[in-house]
Amino acid sequence: MASMIHRLQRIVQEVNHAPDIDNALDLITSSINRDLRADACTVFLAKPGEPGVLVLQACDGLNPEIIGKVERRLGEGVIGTIAERAEPLNLTDAPRHKNFLLVPESGETSFPIYLGVPIIAHRDVVGVIAVQRAEQAFNEDEEAFLTTLASQLATSIERAESQGRFATGNSPALVLRGVAGSPGMAIGEAIVLNRGVNLESVPVKKSDDLDGELRSFNDAVAKVCGELNEQADKMRGVLPDEECALFVAYAQMLSGGSLIDDTERSIRQGFWAPSSWRDTVEEHAYVFEQMEDRYLAERANDIRDLGLRVLRKLMLEQTPYINFPDRTILVGDDVTATDLADVPPDCLAGILSAHGSSSSHVAILAHALGIPAVMGVPNLPVKQLDGVNLVVDGYNGSAFVNPDQSLLREYEKYLAEEAELEQDLLELKSLPAITTDQHPITLMVNSGLMSDYTPSLRSGAQGVGLYRTEIPFQIRDRFPSEEEQFMIYRNVLETFYGMPVVLRTLDVGGDKPLSYFPIKEANPFLGWRGVRITLDHPEIFVTQVRAMIRANVGNDNLEILLPMISGKPELDESLFLVNRVRGEIEEELGQPVACPKIGAMIEVPSAVYQIEDICGLVDFVSIGTNDLTQYLLAVDRNNENVADLFSSLHPAVLKAMAQIIAGARACDTPVSVCGELAGDPLGVMALIGMGVDVLSMSVGSLLRAKKVILSFSRAELAELFVSAVRQPDAGAVRELYAAELETRGLGGFLRAGK
Ligand code: PEP
Ligand code: MG
Repeated sequence: MASMIHRLQRIVQEVNHAPDIDNALDLITSSINRDLRADACTVFLAKPGEPGVLVLQACDGLNPEIIGKVERRLGEGVIGTIAERAEPLNLTDAPRHKNFLLVPESGETSFPIYLGVPIIAHRDVVGVIAVQRAEQAFNEDEEAFLTTLASQLATSIERAESQGRFATGNSPALVLRGVAGSPGMAIGEAIVLNRGVNLESVPVKKSDDLDGELRSFNDAVAKVCGELNEQADKMRGVLPDEECALFVAYAQMLSGGSLIDDTERSIRQGFWAPSSWRDTVEEHAYVFEQMEDRYLAERANDIRDLGLRVLRKLMLEQTPYINFPDRTILVGDDVTATDLADVPPDCLAGILSAHGSSSSHVAILAHALGIPAVMGVPNLPVKQLDGVNLVVDGYNGSAFVNPDQSLLREYEKYLAEEAELEQDLLELKSLPAITTDQHPITLMVNSGLMSDYTPSLRSGAQGVGLYRTEIPFQIRDRFPSEEEQFMIYRNVLETFYGMPVVLRTLDVGGDKPLSYFPIKEANPFLGWRGVRITLDHPEIFVTQVRAMIRANVGNDNLEILLPMISGKPELDESLFLVNRVRGEIEEELGQPVACPKIGAMIEVPSAVYQIEDICGLVDFVSIGTNDLTQYLLAVDRNNENVADLFSSLHPAVLKAMAQIIAGARACDTPVSVCGELAGDPLGVMALIGMGVDVLSMSVGSLLRAKKVILSFSRAELAELFVSAVRQPDAGAVRELYAAELETRGLGGFLRAGK
């Protein structure tokens, strides 16, 4: 008999392949009966809209007439007992269990031996799977098998449910729940971008241009075939023969046969080439996956690998021709910064991504652009969404697919209210940000993606507190030259002439990849990131600093910020290089060149505890609350599964920040805050309370932050901060500040907080 893991994998793969929930459940019940040699298998799932009620959705081995007719509340019957306790029940005589409830006409009286396990997703019991037999109790292995299977099926069932909603063709309205990524709301049309990074999310589309689709498919196949043959030739003598044979085998698969024929057939039926190819590849891979022979089953990976190579070529040809609607909602498995740059800025209305959270860089960019984003939506049916109408609510992390008229009206009303609020806030733009006890606070903007700084200047920003230089690096397909960088930096320095502009040196790695500088690491956030990379590649660092210092000539408002500083040696080396570059430029120009202020980001816990040493070397420090929170709380900022645990208002993070401020104050070093907390109305209250007086944030948050500052005295915020750090958790801190905000009539701002 196949191993447990293989049997589990096979069932999960079969279920993942099912077109909708009914098919998926039929497969689950019949496969479990077969694998456990049971007589009956039933699946109950949570009833939509009725919390605490489960309904029988599928059975195999019992009278099918009962499907949809049996319901159990928590604690009711054996099923309700399993759901309530959220643990398995293994019974040798179910009718004797104190909660047993017979389902008349089911036929279950013949099967007293009973094993039931809960299906749990994100801590909630979403269903129960039960198996029954006439004789022979279920043993421990069988119990373990069913429990493991149920844990894996939770995701498959959710996915089948959401995909099935579309497969029925009538596309009913669907609510999707994710993580609030960037505040705001948008109504628009979905565009799924796929650069060929995965097969899964290639959107299903129809095309009228049969010849064009066939041509682009055949071109892509021919190109990949050519590359494979070339690779095989190049590698002969370098790689073992069997590895070279693989390239040849791949090329042969593309030279005709069912992969090509089936794709062409689908194209002739009116589908566009990329989704026709994806469907064919998936069908073929699935056939291999189902094979008992392990070697053959693993060939499924080869087919998908080949699938991706062709897909990449196909998508490269398609992307430039996308017609972006006026209100584009960008949808993807993992929307990236580069994807944002592909959409004409006037058209981008919102973002919906299956992965990521509010502190992912793409969400931060969206925030900087004033674009609402919903991130981390589990089982987002990406491939079915292209061209579909969507509402995106970046305040509460929800999205609505095919919204009906009443929902649209509701959101149109919210959008109008929001526009009114923004209009009211505009009155504040020329007022100084000053607390009611007359402490001035400097408000600056975070920048990087845009070259149009008008909104920042209009909202009264007093400079750029963080310019993320990695963004111009990310949207190119090679390192930008010194001259290209010079132009970008000079533009921002000139635009904000007379105000400080903090340019941060390249901070890639983690979730900020460069396509032309691939880094593969098991733990990217703990790996080669920020200054660690640029110090290992001084040529990148020196070119960048040269461009910065040259751009500063005649402007004199440059400050340089170093990211991911974890100790003194990195600072010593960076300062040495900056000074050397300045000396070189002085020599080249034959005139003295101003020495820019140099600052360190405080975002790694070791820097918190060495704050005095660091302050001894720099002119200022800037707290990066996004990374500081990630590293202090050990919560991946990009992982939607732990997004609930990520909060910069956590008392531990507040204490660390207070320690930074105390240390910096002892050294007379100015401190600013440039992480997302600085733009959160509750964060503004906490930061001013702990003594910060320079905040840098997305331009869209600036006037709200100013309104908060104008509503409180620093003395009362300082007092509140003393209570905040004594709270047991982030939720309690939030509540404390939220209640105070409400007393000033600013409860409306709470939608925007996180
Ligand atoms: C931070 O970590 O808080 C920060 C401002 O930098 P980034 O979000 O770009 O990592
Ligand atoms: Mg950071």
